[in-house]
Amino acid sequence: MGQPQSKPSKPRFPQPGDHIYCERKGGLYDHHGIYVGDDMVIHLRGAAKKLGELPACHKCGDKRVENGEIAKVCIDCFIDGDTLQIYDYGVTYPEFSKRKRGTCCPRYSRPPDLVISAATDFLERNGFGPYDMFTNNCEHFAVCCKTGSADSYQIEGHIEGVIHTGPFAMVGASVFVAAYSISKGISQKSSSW
Ligand SMILES: [Zn+2]
Repeated sequence: MGQPQSKPSKPRFPQPGDHIYCERKGGLYDHHGIYVGDDMVIHLRGAAKKLGELPACHKCGDKRVENGEIAKVCIDCFIDGDTLQIYDYGVTYPEFSKRKRGTCCPRYSRPPDLVISAATDFLERNGFGPYDMFTNNCEHFAVCCKTGSADSYQIEGHIEGVIHTGPFAMVGASVFVAAYSISKGISQKSSSW
């Protein structure tokens, strides 16, 4: 969809308070959460429901049901077989413009203890509001824990991709609607961003 594809920074093991993400569906979208230490992640799940619960994870007890709520799960459940990456904060604007949307942010992160306490507080109150792919998704949740205000650059990237379709700009709106429908279809089948 025309998004910049510059690579994220070198892989490293996440530290408590890091915003982590991993690709879903071969890179069609990413799922985001906050690593809180002890192999655990707090994340906002997608709103789609699976047909039935999967067997509970032996490590964290999670049944991996997408219910649009905030959950604390083990890092293996979060990654779900994909590759873990770390979302970068405080990147320069030139770097931000080159990188894929939804992988970094020009704003600075709060200290890790504040990030973890924000995520824990949202978890305990289930206080982040109902999941919405465009206005209240897993990236909004993670960025909000990190910075105090919610943004989703992944969504911006999809919209930019439509705007920058050049000669195809006239069909941009329908492309965007199609992309939304595809994403929505996927999210109804299994997990979602
Ligand atoms: Zn688990």
